[in-house]
Amino acid sequence: MPNPAAMKPTLSQSKGLALSQLAPAAVQSEIRAMTLECDRIGGINLAQGVCDTPVPAPVMEGAIQAIHDGYNIYTRLDGISRLRNAISAKQKRDYALDYDPESEVLVSSGATAGLHAAAMALLNPGDEVLIFEPFYGYHVATLKSMRVVPVIVPLAEPDFALDLGALRSAITPRTRALLLNTPANPSGKVFSRAETEAIAEIVQEHDLFLITDEIYEYFVYDGAQHIAPATLPGMRERTIMISGFSKTFSVTGWRLGYVTADARWIGAMSYFHDLTYVCAPSAFQHGAAAGLEQLPPSFYAQLASDHQSKRTRILSALRDAGLEPSIPAGAYYVLASARCIPGKTTAEKARRLLAATGVAAVAGSAFFRPGHGENLLRFCFAKKDNELDEACARLRKL
Ligand code: PLP
Repeated sequence: MPNPAAMKPTLSQSKGLALSQLAPAAVQSEIRAMTLECDRIGGINLAQGVCDTPVPAPVMEGAIQAIHDGYNIYTRLDGISRLRNAISAKQKRDYALDYDPESEVLVSSGATAGLHAAAMALLNPGDEVLIFEPFYGYHVATLKSMRVVPVIVPLAEPDFALDLGALRSAITPRTRALLLNTPANPSGKVFSRAETEAIAEIVQEHDLFLITDEIYEYFVYDGAQHIAPATLPGMRERTIMISGFSKTFSVTGWRLGYVTADARWIGAMSYFHDLTYVCAPSAFQHGAAAGLEQLPPSFYAQLASDHQSKRTRILSALRDAGLEPSIPAGAYYVLASARCIPGKTTAEKARRLLAATGVAAVAGSAFFRPGHGENLLRFCFAKKDNELDEACARLRKL
């Protein structure tokens, strides 16, 4: 008789106890790594887009009141009707777009979960999705985590213009969608009407979905206008419009966003969102609804002008420090040149900058394919004024 104990595989031989094929490729994001590093030395964090500006009063009070009123239980899987109605009214007010609050709005656990749900509902393993570079790392990583292939299309240097030739040549028979982030993180690019129309034309010609991330829709400067792609002729039915409250209401930790799209797509997205999140946080949904209902148009104009002034301050400090910045037309990040900081890689340069000034930025390489973006650093300027001013003063001493 063989000895059963001797037949047991050792841990290193075990075929059952192993990470998935995807897991070994998972690395901590450079943004989170810099945040940890920054916290360790008590520095000022311009690395993560945490947005620690004050929460608007109706939003905060709406959520607190909702907790007192007992809204602490699961909600309908696609969100409370009050918030779905408010989101539908917002899309009508801002973009003259009609979305039925009963079947064309999904309240998600952040824009992040909205993209996850959209990818689960619409894409198959091996499908290709076009993404412009520089890109937001979560977009690429989220798709990869679903065995979807992100196909990177570089924007043209130095001002990140749309390169239609590059876009067309990236399309293959496996292309199923284009993911467009405007205003964009990290470049601050706001796609112009002409560029958005050109993208819409290609998307329709190749019968693709357009998945948009419009979370910075209100953060536009110097008169730039955010063009919502779903408003262009023929685009509503194929556009999955994703946005959220993290940035607009400064509630990144509440995990609250939304997707609006044609009823054909929202049902399946809600199903997949339910599997992971069950619903977005109940009381916070009431807070966001109160914000949408009560905040006047001047709130959104003020948000843009406050951030435009923060942008002016950081641009001037970066120039004084010799970190030549590119000027963002939207969102709240600046890409600046890291050429004058010693170091082999931009990750090394970011750590040198933190050590020298106590200001954390993110290595540009986090937003590009390997070997690109090596001489750039990204700074977030959505900070309270006093902290931003302190960071600027420290940068000037570089
Ligand atoms: N999309 C973009 C382009 C972002 O920059 C961020 C945060 O930095 C998010 C989405 C995250 O959004 P949420 O907090 O709603 O998940």
